[in-house]
Amino acid sequence: MAILEKAVKTDDGVMLNGFLLSPIVDQCDGCDRVRDFEEGKYCSSYPNPASKWAGGRCNFATHAKIAVAQQAKVNPLKASKRAAKGR
Ligand code: SF4
Repeated sequence: MAILEKAVKTDDGVMLNGFLLSPIVDQCDGCDRVRDFEEGKYCSSYPNPASKWAGGRCNFATHAKIAVAQQAKVNPLKASKRAAKGR
């Protein structure tokens, strides 16, 4: 697995470009964006992976393409417009 480049270890934790990084969550397992740094694993795209999964699937996950295809059938904007019109 690739190393997280440009990350630095500080007293507060691992920092990258001024963001404090949180370790990946279980759902990230298998994603190509996971990087090793020191004793943890971090996302190369998001400082806080848990929040990326809080509202559903992470939209940058590389290991869950099938789920993306299924989700793509429902456009949330159109669905909410339809709901607002009462249809
Ligand atoms: S891109 Fe999403 S799924 Fe992949 S490691 Fe980052 S937060 Fe986890």
